[in-house]
Amino acid sequence: MTPAAQRGSRGAVAGLLTEDTPLRRIVPAKAAEALDRHKGLRTVADLLEYLPRRYVDPTQLTDLGELVEGEEAFVVARVARSSTRAMRARRGRLLTVVLTDGSHELDVTFFTPYGHERALAPGRIGSFAGTATTYRGRWQLTHPEYTLLDEDEVAGHVERYRSHLIPVYSSTGALTSMKIRSLVDLVLGSVEEIREPLPAQLVRRRGLPGRAEAIDTLHRPAVGADLRAALRRLRYDEAFVLQTILAQRRAEAQTLVTTARVAAPGGLLAAFDARLPFELTAGQRQVSEVLAAELARSTPMHRLLQGEVGSGKTVVAVRAMLAVVDAGGQAALLAPTEVLAAQHHRSITQMLGPLAADGMLPLGEPDADLDATRRATRVALLTGSQSAPARRAALEDARTGQAGIVVGTHALIQEHVAFHDLGLVVVDEQHRFGVQQRDTLRDKASAAAHLLVMTATPIPRTVAMTVFGDMEALSLTELPAGRSPIETFVVDATRPRWVARTWERVAEEVAKGHQAYVVCPKIGEPAPSSGDRRRAGPEADATAEDGWDRWDDTGDGAGQDAGEAGRELAGVYAVAAELRATPALAGLRVEVLHGRLDPSAKDAAMSAFASGQIDVLVSTTVIEVGVDVPNASTMVVMDADRFGLSQLHQLRGRVGRGRAGGLCLLMTGSDAPPARQRLDAVAATTDGVELARLDLALRREGDVLGARQSGRHTGVRCLRMGDPGDEELIGLAREDATALVAADPTLAAHPVLRDRVAARLDARQAAYLRRG
Ligand code: ADP
Ligand code: MG
Repeated sequence: MTPAAQRGSRGAVAGLLTEDTPLRRIVPAKAAEALDRHKGLRTVADLLEYLPRRYVDPTQLTDLGELVEGEEAFVVARVARSSTRAMRARRGRLLTVVLTDGSHELDVTFFTPYGHERALAPGRIGSFAGTATTYRGRWQLTHPEYTLLDEDEVAGHVERYRSHLIPVYSSTGALTSMKIRSLVDLVLGSVEEIREPLPAQLVRRRGLPGRAEAIDTLHRPAVGADLRAALRRLRYDEAFVLQTILAQRRAEAQTLVTTARVAAPGGLLAAFDARLPFELTAGQRQVSEVLAAELARSTPMHRLLQGEVGSGKTVVAVRAMLAVVDAGGQAALLAPTEVLAAQHHRSITQMLGPLAADGMLPLGEPDADLDATRRATRVALLTGSQSAPARRAALEDARTGQAGIVVGTHALIQEHVAFHDLGLVVVDEQHRFGVQQRDTLRDKASAAAHLLVMTATPIPRTVAMTVFGDMEALSLTELPAGRSPIETFVVDATRPRWVARTWERVAEEVAKGHQAYVVCPKIGEPAPSSGDRRRAGPEADATAEDGWDRWDDTGDGAGQDAGEAGRELAGVYAVAAELRATPALAGLRVEVLHGRLDPSAKDAAMSAFASGQIDVLVSTTVIEVGVDVPNASTMVVMDADRFGLSQLHQLRGRVGRGRAGGLCLLMTGSDAPPARQRLDAVAATTDGVELARLDLALRREGDVLGARQSGRHTGVRCLRMGDPGDEELIGLAREDATALVAADPTLAAHPVLRDRVAARLDARQAAYLRRG
């Protein structure tokens, strides 16, 4: 039967149903609710783009009579009976389900019967995948992956069953793979037409199957169907819609008008340059020139500045901000954490010296010439947790323009901070900011401000072309001269001699006059007498603030108490106490820093470390981004296997910023090969781009077709951000979409595409609103 005929035979729902129809109009309310809650699927398109994780090939089924010890088995069989019994060696009950094909039996065992007992009732038929072993003379699969098959599927439609692959969707709770499969079938059967969004000529030129055909193939593939081509089509579609949005944005941005900011000579910028204790690198000078030229234009600048950790982005940003101040405007600098905002405030104030004399009014009275003669400006700090009077003063300075530079955390965008004349917004460490927040920021700046976004996280080309596709990138490719490379070693934490040697190395560095960070995956509880001032409530600088972070979340153990096999994770307080009692470190000043400390304590710890009054700072990942203490030469990361690759790379970027070589010791008690492999990769290269790519690639483990539904990080569904093939596909889509938008800016001649674009924008908007 053709897909169209299958669809025609159902269609019980009235009204024109398209990909944009809400699922609740088609599937039962409870199912619609579950799809939304567990998977974030709301529309027909959402569900149809929710692809199977793998397929069971009914022609490749293992015969129950031909199992091989230790080999993967795929079987389709009926449940004969099941039983549970208490286990002797451990708590809990063991569920044994006996499967049969009529002549042979196979046991399937689960150590946590919950859910399985009911699902695998006698008489049910399912496909089971696992490793075949024998136990007391009987074949068994332990905790197999399984999917129940509809009785009809087996009995009534033997033919279809034999001729089609069985899609397996990733299941959550009550939403089993089988349930999802039946919902997909229902939806596919109800939708009159899956409309083609792409011009026919384009589909031909790129050698793609039609969208309807691709969707059918992926959800109900005939044995031998070209799954790859179908998948490629959906990925192209996703890329194309994104690229259309971006092309429209770029076109729109060209029509915006803002104030051109031309710095008056002899102002703050010149004074700042004269006070700089080093020469700018060639790269810093080039980037500065590009920025100055764009600030001087009346089309808003919209730039992404990429640069490896320690490449000196801050100076470039400060120079751009001062240029705007010299032109009479104000600049805002947004940092992802309070620690970093405070650091920026401290260092900018310090670098400006008398020119930022706090509390000093601009010289001269406000007259027409003020801007040109202005010699000093306030640098205001605005964070979510500062005292009310400090906050009021900062807000007032922003509003009146007394502060030429306002440094802050998210508080800057979340609240109604008014500026006298905001000319430039700089967002530092963008990977901590969601795309949406960036948009909000730009809206706040009334689309009129120039925007500079900085990131040290190397952005894979795929992401640069999608998430950041509406910005043009600039890069700082060289590190300032005189830096010594960071050396990284993996330390086996189960070996006391290695651990002891690690602390000796820390002591040696301190003896040489340097300082060290010790990073832990969790905070833990302070000893009752420690007297640390802690603030109640959620962690203000919690690592997961938004979007991009989740790139790094697979390895992030923060907040979890135990790692694999119940290993207790190192906590800041416990480690600090241990170090204070370690003879090798006797006499060293060890302090703690984490996001739950009260803001003044956080600030005090960070300033004390920056000024060398602390030798060893034991902290969480609050120091992950941006923190700049050149005298710190050593970093020890506890339970390093709990962190993502890019995250480790960011972390170690905190050391080796001065002339002393950096040393990074990654401690791990895990002997799991993948964990070791990941850490070895970090030790083997200092190339952040390579690590980001690996990070993305490793995340796809166990993903047969590469179609895992893991796009939450970037808001993409089918595209794989770490994949070179998809990179190429995104490139093609970009080219095609740009041409299409150039010819038809409002998509008037492409109504289906226009709908897909609108739906995509709505979904983003909705996600943003949900997040608050
Ligand atoms: P990142 O790009 O990671 O944000 P920073 O801006 O924090 O790097 O700079 C790292 C360190 O390098 C800082 O201590 C900064 O003062 C210093 N630095 C920046 N530019 C230069 C330069 N041209 N020469 C020497 N040191 C520099
Ligand atoms: Mg920085």
